[in-house]
Amino acid sequence: MATMESLIGLVNRIQKACTVLGDYGGGDNTFSSLWEALPSVAVVGGQSSGKSSVLESIVGRDFLPRGSGIVTRRPLVLQLHKTEDGSQEYAEFLHIPKRRFSDFAVVRKEIQDETDRITGKSKQISPVPIHLSIYSPYVVNLTLIDLPGLTKVAVEGQPESIVQDIETMVRAYVEKPNCIILAISPANQDIATSDAIKLAREVDPSGERTFGVLTKLDLMDKGTNALDVLEGRSYRLQHPWVGIVNRSQADINKNVDMIVARRKEREYFATSPDYGHLSNKMGSEYLAKLLSKHLESAIRARIPSITSLINKTIDELESEMEHLGRPIAVDAGAQLYTILELCRAFDKVFKEHLDGGRPGGDRIYGVFDNQLPAALRKLPFDRHLSLQNVKRVVSEADGYQPHLIAPEQGYRRLIESALNYFRGPAEASADAVHFVLKELVRKSIAETQELRRFPSLQAELAAAANEALERFREDSKKTVLRLVDMESSYLTVDFFRRLPQEMDNKGGNPATPANPANSANPAIDRYSEMHFRRIGSNVSSYVGMVSETLRNTIPKAVVHCQVKEAKHSLLNYFYTQIGKKEGKQFSQLLDEDPALMERRLQCVKRLELYKAARDEVDSVSWAR
Ligand code: GDP
Ligand code: MG
Repeated sequence: MATMESLIGLVNRIQKACTVLGDYGGGDNTFSSLWEALPSVAVVGGQSSGKSSVLESIVGRDFLPRGSGIVTRRPLVLQLHKTEDGSQEYAEFLHIPKRRFSDFAVVRKEIQDETDRITGKSKQISPVPIHLSIYSPYVVNLTLIDLPGLTKVAVEGQPESIVQDIETMVRAYVEKPNCIILAISPANQDIATSDAIKLAREVDPSGERTFGVLTKLDLMDKGTNALDVLEGRSYRLQHPWVGIVNRSQADINKNVDMIVARRKEREYFATSPDYGHLSNKMGSEYLAKLLSKHLESAIRARIPSITSLINKTIDELESEMEHLGRPIAVDAGAQLYTILELCRAFDKVFKEHLDGGRPGGDRIYGVFDNQLPAALRKLPFDRHLSLQNVKRVVSEADGYQPHLIAPEQGYRRLIESALNYFRGPAEASADAVHFVLKELVRKSIAETQELRRFPSLQAELAAAANEALERFREDSKKTVLRLVDMESSYLTVDFFRRLPQEMDNKGGNPATPANPANSANPAIDRYSEMHFRRIGSNVSSYVGMVSETLRNTIPKAVVHCQVKEAKHSLLNYFYTQIGKKEGKQFSQLLDEDPALMERRLQCVKRLELYKAARDEVDSVSWAR
């Protein structure tokens, strides 16, 4: 019995825990399925068959509105909690939390008032349940449900649909496989007309969870008895029938109390000529014990599934905790450590983006492989080396004395000004890579799970990283511009040495096909269009060679100054700055999103509840 009580106590604990969870969690699936996994007891029967009276006597307290006509008009979900011997008895409603009712007459009044609050003072019904808990040393731990009685016709003030509405409501409770049905039939009516048995048979054909209760044995016609029913001859049920004698309306009017009523019931059976031989298997006390015993086995059978449900929820909660991250430490040292850990986590993601594994690093190659060559191709050398411009630049460079053999100064000027054009694509490469890196920083911050909860640190990190990238870009620009400048500082001598000398080309060299062979004076030739074209084409091929070189060296410089730096020292400056900060500033950096903090708090609370429930289940399942 002790084990059983702790077992049912456990059930009530879990249910209570679930109610708490349900209250602040809202829409918690585990909550509802756990609730559904646990058995409850519902009374079913015709109107005035004695349902409320039976429930009351199982509880051993007067607190339910009873009487003729439709009295119970909303489901009443009643949780009985056994408390320590000698403790004060009290009741609590879910709709008035924290108020303890010690006067059960007031409880009854509140049930009536709360019923009226939803249905109005009419004969209407409502499926919205009233939740009531009773704490008492005199009860066994049970969840009981009082339901409106099944009727056949709508009476004055009721809608036509009421007969169906009541049946639907009652059915909703009793068709759940975990619901134990107390099918109440009055002994002064033929069992063949019992609505309770009819409905119970429909929802529980095997009768596993149906208990037949026969009330009003005292009201049977003189000379008749209910032995055929009680001994299972009229209608056989899986469980034995239990006969009951509740208080009559006259007893209620006279305020006959429960203790007296129970004594009278015991006496009734003990002295009954018809039922004397069954007296130890009759009455409300026996019914309560029978129910508890059945409940115990029902719950025992469910322990494995309850355990696995609880474990599943604990797993889910734990992985959510993992996801939300541990709560932040309070001392500055630990906070600094956390910040550095977070930075490292971000850095790792960022490097994965660069090195591959995560996308984005390939866009840098895209800059070198597409954007830079395309930009180089688009440089306006055609215009720069047009015949007209070549003529102008060369003549200007010659000054008053035209060049005699080759226009050294002209070449230099043409080349230098052409090389200037490379500054644009060189700088643009640094910029393009800068934007790729910046985007990767943004992405990496968003993708670093651990950082999610710290918006302030995210912002600081982003700012620090962008600042570092900005410095790398400056450095990179300087370097690539220097590459360009170097090209104009010293021209490749070999290139010019290898150029065919015009002077030697008079013999109709194919390199100078337009050279008029019939021209008498080579000096005139030197200043002809062809001459300038050749200069243009020489400069153009020199510039082409430089372009080829820069196409290869600019990426090297950009990677060296920006990509590699970003990889190795993106946060170095930030680390130095952080080292100089004070403890107080750490907690500002680790300032969490309040919604997240709240979520973690809830998670912790739930975990505690579920773990406590699991410990309970474990201890009960071992205590056989
Ligand atoms: P419910 O409508 O099914 O909840 O029935 P109640 O519990 O409200 O009872 C209806 C009426 O029948 C009340 O006046 C009770 O006093 C009376 N009653 C219920 N059970 C018995 C019984 O076993 N014997 C006698 N004499 N009256 C009973
Ligand atoms: Mg009732």
